[in-house]
Amino acid sequence: MRPLLICLSLGQLTACSTEPGPPGVLIITLDTWRADHLSAELAPNLHKLATTGLQFHNAWTPIGLTTPAHASLFTGLLPPQHGLRGNNHHGYHLAETHQTLAEQVKAQGWATAAFVSSYPAGPEGGLHQGFETSSAPDSGERPTAETVGLAQAWLGAQTGPWLLWAHVNDPHGPYAPDAADLAAVGGGDDDKARYRGEVHQADRLLGPLITEAQARGALIVITADHGEVHSEERCGWQHERSSSPVVLRVPLVIAGPGVPQGRRDGLVGLTDIAHTALTWAKLPPLPSAAQSLDLLAGEDPSRALWAAESGLCDPECTPGCNPTGFLGKDRVVYGAQGGLYVVRPGFGEYGERDLAPGLESYDLPLPPPGSPDGDQARALGYQDP
Ligand SMILES: [Zn+2]
Repeated sequence: MRPLLICLSLGQLTACSTEPGPPGVLIITLDTWRADHLSAELAPNLHKLATTGLQFHNAWTPIGLTTPAHASLFTGLLPPQHGLRGNNHHGYHLAETHQTLAEQVKAQGWATAAFVSSYPAGPEGGLHQGFETSSAPDSGERPTAETVGLAQAWLGAQTGPWLLWAHVNDPHGPYAPDAADLAAVGGGDDDKARYRGEVHQADRLLGPLITEAQARGALIVITADHGEVHSEERCGWQHERSSSPVVLRVPLVIAGPGVPQGRRDGLVGLTDIAHTALTWAKLPPLPSAAQSLDLLAGEDPSRALWAAESGLCDPECTPGCNPTGFLGKDRVVYGAQGGLYVVRPGFGEYGERDLAPGLESYDLPLPPPGSPDGDQARALGYQDP
């Protein structure tokens, strides 16, 4: 139901006001979307939305893998807490005992739906807990247009409060944008151009869904599960083997009724989104609320550090990581002022040369025991080598 225009006539006077419709929350995740690819040229619809609400310039994911990153978004928990250190096709599944945003709003009578575009975002990883309507491809990915069309049809039928999650698999590889989208971002025949084209394609296809949600007075959250390495590291055009900012820093935009307009630079992350949505909707918090920030409260919400990890260890990409696979992955802690701490199991040669410029402190260990940062990181499950 759209907001209602109510008019009362008293004699010669007529007064009108807009009655808010039932509350709604739209969460859109663009898979593999880098924080530096939210611009008016590449994503005009998303950028325009950002100018009407809050854009967070220091937002992070806890891991560069689809299933565990979304598990963090919906539970407010970090990977050591919800237990997913890999994707669903690696056997990881969110336990039923964990409480999700969708379960929380469903318990309050909200309609809930998830339309996702890739298998790792599908129900096999437990991400669809609490979503009454759940739609995902059986394997691989499906086109953004198909997912967005299903989401729009569902939203159009809602008359009460609702939560809708739409996940699109652009700009995840393989990069194959429509010719018009490639042309719209300047053309080109390399991966970088095609990646940019896929960002534009996702933006174009998401535009009508965002417009519909705005017309309904919804809270709209746009973000990514992780970014992508382009040419910054030894292994490019992937995300699961990196713990660098090009993978772990993500775009984040929040817009809607009551959301101020502006820029935020505080250190925030995907684990703050569920708490923020529940607080906005005036609904009971999740058990994880104590470690989450309300991103709509205060001038510039921020935490002291952000703990994260790479998807896995591949010595070909990250010299010194050992053992290969999930156990050998990097554990990293980013500070609010840009500091970076890395713990690499089997610590050997480490990869400063593979990092994006400006991260000179990459080889620091965890902050010492007894320091607030160090104690907090260890409490979150991050260990010294
Ligand atoms: Zn992903």
